[in-house]
Amino acid sequence: MSQRFDVIIIGAGGAGLMCAMTAGQRGRSVAVLEHNDRIGKKILISGGGRCNFTNLDAGPENYISSNPHFCRSALSRYPAGEFIELVRKHGIEFYEKTLGQLFCKHSSRQIVGLLEGECRDAGVDIISECKVNALQGDNGFQLQTSLGDFECESLVIATGALSFPKLGATDFGYRVAKQFGVPIVEPRPGLVPIIPKLGDGSPWPFIELSGISISCVASAGGQSFRDQLLFTHRGLSGPAVLQVSNYCRQGETFALNLLVDETSTALLDDARQSRQTPDRWLEKWFPKRFAHAFAKQFVPAKPMAQMKQTDRERLVKQLLEWKLIVAKTEGYAKAEVTVGGVDTNALSSKTMECCEISGLYFIGEVLDVTGWLGGYNFQWAWVSGHAAGQMV
Ligand SMILES: Cc1cc2nc3c(=O)[nH]c(=O)nc-3n(C[C@H](O)[C@H](O)[C@H](O)COP(=O)(O)OP(=O)(O)OC[C@H]3O[C@@H](n4cnc5c(N)ncnc54)[C@H](O)[C@@H]3O)c2cc1C
Repeated sequence: MSQRFDVIIIGAGGAGLMCAMTAGQRGRSVAVLEHNDRIGKKILISGGGRCNFTNLDAGPENYISSNPHFCRSALSRYPAGEFIELVRKHGIEFYEKTLGQLFCKHSSRQIVGLLEGECRDAGVDIISECKVNALQGDNGFQLQTSLGDFECESLVIATGALSFPKLGATDFGYRVAKQFGVPIVEPRPGLVPIIPKLGDGSPWPFIELSGISISCVASAGGQSFRDQLLFTHRGLSGPAVLQVSNYCRQGETFALNLLVDETSTALLDDARQSRQTPDRWLEKWFPKRFAHAFAKQFVPAKPMAQMKQTDRERLVKQLLEWKLIVAKTEGYAKAEVTVGGVDTNALSSKTMECCEISGLYFIGEVLDVTGWLGGYNFQWAWVSGHAAGQMV
């Protein structure tokens, strides 16, 4: 005997749980099937354990998609304020860290508790450690799972994407899309540390700077982000670099401005008059280890005033527009999100339902909608889950 529900949601992450509670509140019978032993694992580890659960300023311009207008309708119908109201209702204390980014004051566990509590109150069945072995769409949907057979009228795929496989990420959503003929925009790791090459193609020489953080503006693909960059034992990370990783692929160029508040003219004037060697001159702005390694890499060790003008110009150019190439990234193991995914051209932007397959919905990160760093990805999970939850 199959267990029958109006709605089955596969995946108990942010999007799936939001969809479940919304549909449950409408009186639909809802089951969420999750293959992990616990729900919301990504929420638990997010934001360093404090979940950056939304961004006050989330708008379509903060998302990347090959169909950039798709997210507009759902975002406008479930603005950040709606989720904040829910957070307040549950007595969860939060604070704005920077740039509209809202974090829990205490723990991400509170956000999972909120979603679980709302689902319970709405009568949703959350079924963990349930593996879906096969599914068919024939006058509704039929699922064969490790816990028996299920049937439903509406099926929602909320299984996330490929980043962080150790938390249970799978390609399940893409396989379902293929099974039903829904196209996929090629996925790749996003918000991911970059292993760069220098502009001339030579290997990254700054491994010994691991641990140093400096502020910068990082730019790629027409977008710029002012934030910190972090030297790692393999390359570059930190919020500014994670942000630009969404905008450049392997082999493409990104640029760093390491002295955002200086101009080329002022720096060249200062350099021309300085008796300091380049490493000491750079110490005015940067940590000593960085100043020494950067100077050694790019200019001769002689007083700035005695250096050839072309050498001074080269150094200043590197400081203000340091062009680097993406040799590779740290991949899905370290990527916070996946760029690309189920092609939104095949879906209704109001409901997340497939245009060609009645009753089949895709929500959350499995879709080709990727947010910036800063709470935008959870906002998309809430927004898309809410949109589908109102229709299923
Ligand atoms: C380290 C890290 C930190 C992050 N921090 C933030 C942050 O602070 N703010 C922010 O906005 N975003 C953050 N993100 C991104 C954010 O976590 C995701 O965008 C968001 O969780 C996506 O929600 P989702 O529900 O679509 O997918 P997921 O959260 O990935 O949920 C999908 C669920 O489906 C389950 N599943 C997968 N395959 C199957 C299957 N075959 N059968 C059954 N279940 C399955 C998974 O186990 C999982 O529970 C972070 C990501 C990472 C990796």
